[in-house]
Amino acid sequence: MHSAFNYLVIGGGSGGLASARRAAKYGMKVALIENSRLGGTCVNLGCVPKKVMWNAAHLIEDRKVYDSYGFSSGLSTDWATLKANRDAYIERINNTYITNLKKEGVEVLKGFAKFSGKSSIVVNDSSEYTSSNILIASGSEATYPDIPGKELLSSSDDFFYLQEKPKKVLILGNGYIACELACMLNSFGVDTTLAIRVNQFLRAFDADLTKILKEYMEQEGVKFKMQTLISEAKKIGDKLEATFNNGEKDQYDKIFCAIGRKAKIGGMNLELTGVKQKDDGFIITNEWEETSTKGIYALGDVTGKIQLTPVAIAAGRRLSDRLFAGKTDSKLDYSNVPTVMFSHPPLGTVGLTELQARAKYGDDVKVYYKKFTNMFFSLSPHKEPTVMKVVCVGNEERIVGMHGLGRGVDEMIQGFSVAVKMGARKKDLDNTVAIHPTASEEFVTMT
Ligand SMILES: Cc1cc2nc3c(=O)[nH]c(=O)nc-3n(C[C@H](O)[C@H](O)[C@H](O)COP(=O)(O)OP(=O)(O)OC[C@H]3O[C@@H](n4cnc5c(N)ncnc54)[C@H](O)[C@@H]3O)c2cc1C
Repeated sequence: MHSAFNYLVIGGGSGGLASARRAAKYGMKVALIENSRLGGTCVNLGCVPKKVMWNAAHLIEDRKVYDSYGFSSGLSTDWATLKANRDAYIERINNTYITNLKKEGVEVLKGFAKFSGKSSIVVNDSSEYTSSNILIASGSEATYPDIPGKELLSSSDDFFYLQEKPKKVLILGNGYIACELACMLNSFGVDTTLAIRVNQFLRAFDADLTKILKEYMEQEGVKFKMQTLISEAKKIGDKLEATFNNGEKDQYDKIFCAIGRKAKIGGMNLELTGVKQKDDGFIITNEWEETSTKGIYALGDVTGKIQLTPVAIAAGRRLSDRLFAGKTDSKLDYSNVPTVMFSHPPLGTVGLTELQARAKYGDDVKVYYKKFTNMFFSLSPHKEPTVMKVVCVGNEERIVGMHGLGRGVDEMIQGFSVAVKMGARKKDLDNTVAIHPTASEEFVTMT
């Protein structure tokens, strides 16, 4: 069988779905090829189930102040019910995609896509499909250290498959996924250790905030092993024994590996296309999401640019706007992308960290900083830190970075990121009347 389409999209995750649906809206004949569940990593093994687990952990965290508000804190958690309700919610999202794609006229081809040429794809080694526009939006997958016993290590995917709460875990990694897993499991009362290869926690985020987050996580029970690598994993009875580079050994129920992700391109016959990859395997694209081969595009995690769902969605929609609606200058601006790490407490960020700003602008940088306790904790001996930081540049004090750690920051930073994107200056924050009593008012009253 041989079918021609205006647009073939490999991958029904955040980027592929967004781009396919937008193209179909413009009347294009579109096929979306997905070999697993629609929604991709975000819906099935990333943002969505993660946020459900974070919400659950957040409820557990709030119990630390229940007594001070006069409530009883004697509630127990039920992992099995939580997992069942979470899985049912995700299934509803999967089904919604099926319905919407049908309604919008996107043909969903269930199966694994491989290139058979520069403009043709074979699905499940049987039917061939052709198009002069092919999008690779196949995402990314976890990487593992090359050590004896690596097959015993779990990834964040396995966290979502856990049928019951483990008692003791080791998490390897220094990115947001490692930190989020550590915070969530710790909130659930799991004995949690985070092993980090370097001596600085979460290097991608502002150091003032991550220092305070680390202190708080330690206070709440997360154990840190800095400058530590795992050198071997072994099964001992029903436990996993980790040996570290300093010779120490310890036993765990699970060892989660969150040391980084690689492009998911295995078995796709990319070599038939001429599409070039970086040394680390990610597909090389220009600002228009074009690969080195005409008519083949790539976006989202598979390019290794900014690995976030809204980035993949925005890039996918803009690509279709350009290819199929004549919007010739439509492309994603990858600067000032806001993001939140769902730690406890959450950390929200947009723009440059102080370190990045100083490297770029030198002495022209001025920083406003405030650390305080959110009023939510004022009745309780339990205190969670809140930190806010505004990084400005030049006489005009143009804001190049805003960073927050604390309760509610996850819902705050989106609004402030609009201001940063628009080129706001510190005086624009000063001219904004505060909302009282909130934590966010501190962002507009800093001196
Ligand atoms: C634990 C975790 C938590 C995360 N939390 C957040 C968060 O809070 N916020 C956020 O913005 N981002 C988060 N992310 C990142 C986010 O999930 C990704 O950036 C996003 O899903 C990338 O979208 P994508 O379209 O590039 O790839 P994906 O969503 O991974 O979709 C790729 C799809 O392609 C399919 N596929 C691959 N190869 C083939 C093939 N040959 N044939 C057919 N189908 C194929 C896959 O099955 C998959 O469904 C998280 C990720 C993880 C792992």
